[in-house]
Amino acid sequence: VCEFEPGAIVSDACASYSTLESLNDAIHPYLHSITQNTDFFSHYRLNLYNKKCPFWSDENGMCGNRACAVNTLENEEDIPLVWRAHELGRLEGPTAQHPGKRQQKERKAKPLQGKLGENVGESCVVEYDDECDERDFCVPDDEGASAKGDYVSLKDNPERFTGYAGAGSQQVWEAIYRENCFSKPARPAELSSGNTPLGGFGAPNFEAANALQNVLRERSVQASVQSAIAQGGSSGFDPIEFDDDCLEKRVFYRVVSGMHASISSHLCWDYLNQTTGQWSPNLACYEQRLHNFPDRISNLYFNYALILRAVGKIKQHVADYEFCSADPEQDQITKAMVLRLASAMPSGAAIFDESVMFREPGSGVTLKEDFRNRFRNVSRIMDCVGCDKCRLWGKVQTAGYGTALKVLFEFDEHDSSKDPPLRRTELVALLNTMDRLSHSLSAIKQFRRMIDERDGVK
Ligand code: FAD
Repeated sequence: VCEFEPGAIVSDACASYSTLESLNDAIHPYLHSITQNTDFFSHYRLNLYNKKCPFWSDENGMCGNRACAVNTLENEEDIPLVWRAHELGRLEGPTAQHPGKRQQKERKAKPLQGKLGENVGESCVVEYDDECDERDFCVPDDEGASAKGDYVSLKDNPERFTGYAGAGSQQVWEAIYRENCFSKPARPAELSSGNTPLGGFGAPNFEAANALQNVLRERSVQASVQSAIAQGGSSGFDPIEFDDDCLEKRVFYRVVSGMHASISSHLCWDYLNQTTGQWSPNLACYEQRLHNFPDRISNLYFNYALILRAVGKIKQHVADYEFCSADPEQDQITKAMVLRLASAMPSGAAIFDESVMFREPGSGVTLKEDFRNRFRNVSRIMDCVGCDKCRLWGKVQTAGYGTALKVLFEFDEHDSSKDPPLRRTELVALLNTMDRLSHSLSAIKQFRRMIDERDGVK
């Protein structure tokens, strides 16, 4: 039994595929209370309206439904203290001026050493506002001294069915999957051969399956990965042929497809019946989008394993982090909750072993840069989403995955001195993305139960 207790050791034997679900059953209420009940994690600052879609004119893709709208917080007093401009310490702290770009660079190279007084944590004083740290997998959305951030209560704007569909959303998903074109498009001759690649997932490829198994160190996840690969997933877009042996490209695809699957699960779970006006789970929606596509569900689990690993890896970072609102008691509670969560993650690489990626001699760095740049582009594509609420959650989740990738590939568990800084928004996005995945796992479990009941399966 995996108990969700601080310091609980989740052994390999414990971390089976079904145990990911049991672990989730235990984590879900706790994680959800962090994202819903703490000011720090229930609010997000982002640039929701002021960025133009950098890839195409987005006028046709706008969603006019009420369900697409986001309520932003216009009044300063509605913004929790921890997020209010003067409390953020974003521009200046108790004794420090907001540093200019040059100073920020210097500070990154050489962290602050007691200059601000013994009890003032760095994160209380300055939020780095660089355009982009070179190690980021995402384009920061809220940064820059002149950036007009929108404050949004994530709790009051739940991710659910909005009615955003058609050519607009199709174009965005297409653009996102196109970022996965590390490889050349299939030649027509190959398309008609017996080895025709299936959609974006490529043909059955057991060499790649073996490599993936090294990333997912856990038997039933492996079984599911292998069966998904054997079936060949399909993105439904232009067939793309993958380099046969490139694990990293497959991981990229799985992250994107898993995110897509997670979004689908939420909109099917919280679905608006437009005839009755009632919000309720829509089983047909689930069957059409997920149940009949085990590869998509497997990609969602893949993302959950990836995020669990990343959250486990920020334990030290959280221990050192200052949650600096004006209410030290609340800060203490928030910190204790996150620390407890991070400590309960399966230890080491038990579930997800990122160390097998970007390892190939000669190509590692270039491939990693390529991977990073492509993921950054996915985050830019979010400005093309023509529905405010979808854009909000699309941005939160791409930032969450971007943060997870940064933690996985740039953080050293044993020596945090060279770890890149994590912005407040990155931490919030990471935990909210974990919460979204956790909710997806719960929803899928309940959808399966509904199918069993309908079909009379005991
Ligand atoms: P889509 O989901 O649009 O998928 C397009 C094609 O992609 C499918 O035909 C299929 O071939 C392929 N595909 C589908 N799922 C996967 C997968 N997991 N992996 C690989 N390939 C796949 N709608 C809401 O109601 N609420 C939201 O909060 C919301 N958020 C969104 C956020 C973003 C960033 C985007 C781009 C869209 C969002 N949408 C949201 C719209 C929603 O995702 C769908 O696009 C819409 O419901 C239309 O669905 P569809 O059946 O046409 O297929």
